[in-house]
Amino acid sequence: TTVGVLRETAGRERRVAITPDGVTRLRRTGVRVLVETGAGRHAWFSDPDYAAAGADIGGRQQVYGESDVLLVVRPPDDVAALPAGRVLIGLLDPLGDPALAQTLAEQGVTAISLDLLPRTLSRAQPMDALTSQANVAGYKAALLAAEAYGGFFPMLVTAAGTTRPAQVLVLGAGVAGLQAIATARRLGALVTGYDVRAQARADIASTGAAVLSMDATQDGDGGYARALDEDEAATQLRALTQAVPRFDVVITTAKVPGGRSPLLVSEDALRAMRPGSVVLDLGGGNVAGSAPDTRTVTDHGVTVIGAPNLAATVPVAASTAYARNVVALISSLMPEGRLPGESSDEVLAAVLVCRDGAVVHPRLNELET
Ligand code: NAD
Repeated sequence: TTVGVLRETAGRERRVAITPDGVTRLRRTGVRVLVETGAGRHAWFSDPDYAAAGADIGGRQQVYGESDVLLVVRPPDDVAALPAGRVLIGLLDPLGDPALAQTLAEQGVTAISLDLLPRTLSRAQPMDALTSQANVAGYKAALLAAEAYGGFFPMLVTAAGTTRPAQVLVLGAGVAGLQAIATARRLGALVTGYDVRAQARADIASTGAAVLSMDATQDGDGGYARALDEDEAATQLRALTQAVPRFDVVITTAKVPGGRSPLLVSEDALRAMRPGSVVLDLGGGNVAGSAPDTRTVTDHGVTVIGAPNLAATVPVAASTAYARNVVALISSLMPEGRLPGESSDEVLAAVLVCRDGAVVHPRLNELET
């Protein structure tokens, strides 16, 4: 079996699916590894590093031609070039982009998407790329917000007096939010967290941060939040519009699987914030007027940063963790690099998007009908 590693084609994407260390680990499972020329360049992993770990290096066509399994972080631009019979593994976001799943099925590609992994199953945790990447993103969110903020995060005691610590609010306390809370606290900010899930509020408290309390608990399935109905969402937005202007820095990380990220910081909230405040939208769509990969300053002097793909900006840590997730998946689900013909494996059933020319994932088939 040959496992191919493709260079990422998405704009601003600096990660790579396998690091040289990942090559060493993969080869222990008995497979050949073929890495596309320059695949790790933006994450500071060179072709000679991969070769030293035992990988072959080749052009894109060679990787497509010779690989049984193809590894990516995000879907490649040239899916049309994927030969039938290949297994494509990545964060393919099939619930966000069902058309891609359809295209892959029509081409006879078997696709496995790491973002469909059952999160709460302990066996799946070493493969949990959403967690590893959210962890990196949450860390970077706190750093980026601190950099954009015109004051100190910590209280500093100097001969000229004492500085006021920054008041930071983190909305959404899943993996990314909890890491943003921990990182902002390490920088010395006074941090408050908020989430709709009761478990997440307990997690916030366990970090030592304050918990912003607003009534309602909205737990959904599989450890995820559910989308709020219109009334609930309106009530939440009103309460947050009162709370948000008290803070210097707001980091939002709220998502609902397969749905649109909820709006948590309204136009009115932005207008009521003090000039110099910073709002960073990691959830994508949590903040009125935020756009991906942009930094704007409102008329009232509030900096709004749209940053839905921060893991891609910390490529060494993110690629290292992702590679481990992928190796764990292959070791667990594909003995000798091959998918079993028949399988009752619940993890495999959860991540398999399409196989033998058909979309097989139940949630995707639900979407189509
Ligand atoms: P996510 O990225 O889907 O969402 C981020 C956070 O936003 C979640 O905490 C969610 O509750 C919150 N949110 C959604 N709508 C909101 C709203 N309207 N207002 C405020 N907050 C809102 O979540 P995630 O970080 O991927 O985590 C998903 C689940 O996976 C969690 O239960 C997490 O604990 C679980 N998980 C478990 C393990 C484990 O068992 N070891 C590991 C990783 C993740």
